[in-house]
Amino acid sequence: MENVIIIGSGPAGLTAAIYAARANLNPLMIEGEEVGGQLMTTTDVENFPGFPEGVMGPDLMTITRKQAERFGTRFISNNVTKVDFSSRPFKVWVKDKEYQSKSIIISTGASAKYLGLENERRLLGRGVSACATCDGAFFRDVEVCIVGGGDTAMEEALFLTRFASKVHVFHRRESFRASKVMADRVMNHEKIQIHWNTELKDVLGDKAVTGVKVFNNKTNETIEMNLEGVFIAIGHKPNTDIFTDFIETNDVGYINTKPDCTYTNVEGVFACGDAQDHVYRQAVTAAGTGCMAAIDAERWLDDQAHA
Ligand code: NDP
Repeated sequence: MENVIIIGSGPAGLTAAIYAARANLNPLMIEGEEVGGQLMTTTDVENFPGFPEGVMGPDLMTITRKQAERFGTRFISNNVTKVDFSSRPFKVWVKDKEYQSKSIIISTGASAKYLGLENERRLLGRGVSACATCDGAFFRDVEVCIVGGGDTAMEEALFLTRFASKVHVFHRRESFRASKVMADRVMNHEKIQIHWNTELKDVLGDKAVTGVKVFNNKTNETIEMNLEGVFIAIGHKPNTDIFTDFIETNDVGYINTKPDCTYTNVEGVFACGDAQDHVYRQAVTAAGTGCMAAIDAERWLDDQAHA
């Protein structure tokens, strides 16, 4: 019987593991097959406190994992295949093996959606990014593009104007899904050029992005454009499908947590990081809520022991 099983190994889960391990809870982390989460697909991280020279995303996750290990976290490097949170102890399966735990911390994160182009994946971190907040500052005085027509695309397009000489917005339809105020700001910005009815068909470049191929679905014209950054902002998907029989989520799958804490609707199950946060989605905020989840779990377990 475990005290706490932590599911997911990005900044939220690993921070929860550090805190839970230092609280003598001897946590078991099921870290998944994509160990380390979204930071494993980024390059330089310049906005994580404590690294004045910046740090590579995978390096940050490797050292954070070591820190969790140092205090006794045990790791299983597979995906959770099934859970049962209908009664306590909670049950978690990895393939056929069943684990039981008094409490659970969910930190399975979210995945940025991509278009699914081969060169988009190949050039990820080499000019292709799904996070302008993370990577925008690398694109000073060059042309970049962003794909999408929602609030994220608007917000990121505006953010990118601080660095880039020009921002092209490619949207597949003729009107934005984003709120009017955000869309108006984008449409009136002198550095932003909007390309309606435009689909990104290919990303060009050998070692780094040098351009894109775009298709106008109204004129059926395909053109190539030279630019150096490709930002994909077509939404995120929280990795919460295996929990939704038991845990309440919002309509797009983010886990609902009670205000100012990491409690879910199931007592003893806590959620942190991008699996529950659709607003900030930063490594440092994920780490912060991971810390909260471990403290919440520790106090809840203590209360159970004294009940
Ligand atoms: P959305 O789902 O709102 O928008 C996704 C956009 O990407 C849509 O314009 C959609 O096009 C486009 N898209 C989706 N799939 C593809 C594809 N395969 N090819 C091309 N384009 C595609 O996601 P967001 O991340 O923008 O926002 C998520 C939620 O977060 C929303 O509720 C949003 O309001 C909120 N949010 C709020 C912010 C704020 O208030 N400051 C900031 C950021 C997000 P189409 O329109 O044609 O479907």
